[in-house]
Amino acid sequence: MEDVLVVGAGPAGAACALWLHQLGLKVMLLDAGRAIGGLQLRSPYTNRWIPSVQGKTGQEVARQLEEHVRSASVPCRLGFDVGAIRYRADHSGWEVSAAKESLRATYVVIATGSKPRCGGFMETEHVGIGPGISMERIDVHGKRVAILGGGDNAFDQAVFALRRGARNVDVYCRHTPRAQPILQREIPSHCVHVGPFDADQVRMTVNAAAYDVLGVQFGFEASIPAGIRLPLRDGYIVVDRHGAVPRFRGLFAAGEVTNFWHPCVTTALAHGVQVAKAIQNDHLAAASGAMPSFVERPAPRVARPRRGPGLRPQAAARMHQGGGAIARSLSDLSPHER
Ligand SMILES: Cc1cc2nc3c(=O)[nH]c(=O)nc-3n(C[C@H](O)[C@H](O)[C@H](O)COP(=O)(O)OP(=O)(O)OC[C@H]3O[C@@H](n4cnc5c(N)ncnc54)[C@H](O)[C@@H]3O)c2cc1C
Repeated sequence: MEDVLVVGAGPAGAACALWLHQLGLKVMLLDAGRAIGGLQLRSPYTNRWIPSVQGKTGQEVARQLEEHVRSASVPCRLGFDVGAIRYRADHSGWEVSAAKESLRATYVVIATGSKPRCGGFMETEHVGIGPGISMERIDVHGKRVAILGGGDNAFDQAVFALRRGARNVDVYCRHTPRAQPILQREIPSHCVHVGPFDADQVRMTVNAAAYDVLGVQFGFEASIPAGIRLPLRDGYIVVDRHGAVPRFRGLFAAGEVTNFWHPCVTTALAHGVQVAKAIQNDHLAAASGAMPSFVERPAPRVARPRRGPGLRPQAAARMHQGGGAIARSLSDLSPHER
C-alpha cells in the first residue's frame, strides 16, 4: 500500500510526485503513456513561456522532466492506464485500477490533464487531431488541407500548413472565428468558410470539396478517469485552494484537469507542488490527531466591495472570488511558437 498514487505524469503529476517523494512519503507515479511529460510530448515547438527555461521545445521540456523524476528515483509505472478510481468499502483507502491490476493508497492525486476534442474523427495518416505532433507528422507539401475549427489552434495550424508548403488551406468554422485577429489576418478571407459544414473523413471531403489532409482543431477537454463521479464545473474537476476535491477524503486533483489556473506548464508544475504540500500537511496532521490543514473552513465574512467609479459590481464580485475567468485556449500561450 502506498501513501499516495499520482495518476498522470504530465508536469502537474510529475512535480507532485517529485515533491512527495522528497518530502518522505511513499508515492507511485502512474501514466497510461510510455513517457513522462504529458501534453509537452506533443509539442515540437519552442516553449518560450517557462521562466528560467529557455530555447527548449516542448518535447525537450518533457525529456528534462523525465530525467529529473528518474534521477530523483521517484517510483513510477508507465503504461498504467487507469480505468477506475474508487474508495474501498472497508474504508482502508483508495483503489486505483488498470486493466489487470489494482493499487491501493491513502491518497490519490488525479493529474490526468486534458486531451484534444476529436468530434467523432479518428487520427490517421491523413487526419490530425489537435495541435502539435499530430499535425506536424503529416507531410502537407503540395497537398490540399482543410482545417476544422475557428479558435487560435485552428488558425495557427492553418498558418503552419501554408508555411510547410501546402498547396491550399481552407479553414471551416461553424461560428464566427474566435481566433486572435493577428492569426486570422494570415489566412486570406476567401479561404475561411463560416457556417455549418459537413466533413467526411472516409471520403476526405468537406462540403463535398476534396482534401488530402484534415486537421481537426476543436479545442481541449478534461481527461477524467472513469469509475468515479466527481464534482465538475464546465467538465473540469472542482478543487479547493489546496487541490482537495470537496467531500472526497484523501482525493486531490492538480493541473489542467482542474482548470484551476490558466493552463500552462508553469501553473501545472506549481499546482502539483501545492497539492504535494497539502498532502504532507494532512499526513502529519493525521499522525498527530490534529485537524487536517486542507479542510475548507467557512469563508470569512468579507466587507461588501465599495462601488467606486470604474468598478462594476460584477468586476468586484470576480475580485472577491480571486480572479477572472480562466482562459482555456492553449494558444493564449504563444500564437506562433507552439
Ligand atoms: C501542442 C502544444 C503546445 C503547448 N505549448 C505550451 C507552451 O509553449 N507553454 C506552456 O506553458 N504550455 C504549453 N502547452 C500546454 C501544456 O503542455 C499543458 O498546460 C501542460 O502539459 C498541462 O500539464 P498537466 O500535467 O496538467 O496535464 P498533461 O500534460 O495533459 O498530462 C496528463 C498526463 O496524464 C496521463 N493520463 C491521462 N489519463 C490517464 C489515465 N486514465 N491513466 C493514466 N494516465 C493518464 C496522460 O497520458 C498525460 O501524460 C502546450 C500544449 C500543446 C498540446
